[in-house]
Amino acid sequence: MSCPKRSTYISDPFSASELESLRESALQEIEYCFGSAQVKGNQDILRLRRKTDNQELITIPKDVNICVLKKELANQVFNPSEHGRYYFQSNKIILNPEKWCKKTVIHECLHSVSIFSHPCNSRFFKKTLSFSEGATEFLTGLLLFGNHYDCYKNWIKKRYKVCGLSYKHDVKIIFAFCGCVDPQVLIDLYLGNRTNVFPTAWTCFTEDIIQHTQSNFKDILDEGLRVGLINAFGFECERQFQRKFRDLKRTLDFSLL
Ligand SMILES: [Zn+2]
Repeated sequence: MSCPKRSTYISDPFSASELESLRESALQEIEYCFGSAQVKGNQDILRLRRKTDNQELITIPKDVNICVLKKELANQVFNPSEHGRYYFQSNKIILNPEKWCKKTVIHECLHSVSIFSHPCNSRFFKKTLSFSEGATEFLTGLLLFGNHYDCYKNWIKKRYKVCGLSYKHDVKIIFAFCGCVDPQVLIDLYLGNRTNVFPTAWTCFTEDIIQHTQSNFKDILDEGLRVGLINAFGFECERQFQRKFRDLKRTLDFSLL
């Protein structure tokens, strides 16, 4: 089931140009809220492959940056819980029909401007995925909280499957971190405001945390790439910020930020 407001966001049927304008307005909102929305990636065609084998299924033409897949194809490409996906190699967003709404477009557009999707960091893509998804979904929530409060309320309560909070475990860690440090420190990392090169950006991120909190926050990147970045990061946050971090994780109340 989806929110009754969905029909005011997406007309039925919708055209490719409407979809493109939803993407553009999401990028504008991201730029307005977080200060940067440079679209990265080349503009090559995108070939989707099945989950189970490598057979090529579809080619999305060069000038399309966002599209909704046909139902039969979506069933083969997406996991059942997936609403959309961003391909950094070709700078394309694909959406799961019936399963996407405003929050999906914002989430995927955030991926498209993030350091974690930058082609120069492709070798870290898998190893940083849980951190990247947590940060992406957290920033989606922060944007909804500021700009679309009704959507935020449904998102945080997971009232509807289509637009509810995803990656809850990872979002809680990122949220509590931002409550203990400052969301801008995360945003600077996420958007590559210091540098686009991942390991260097993480070093700057750690330095920023130390400066903001006067703590001895450890650089956990090496360990994180071995055991899982989001959990190693969460452990270090808990070690440094202790009760404040644990309490914030429990509340997940964005008005506390
Ligand atoms: Zn994502």
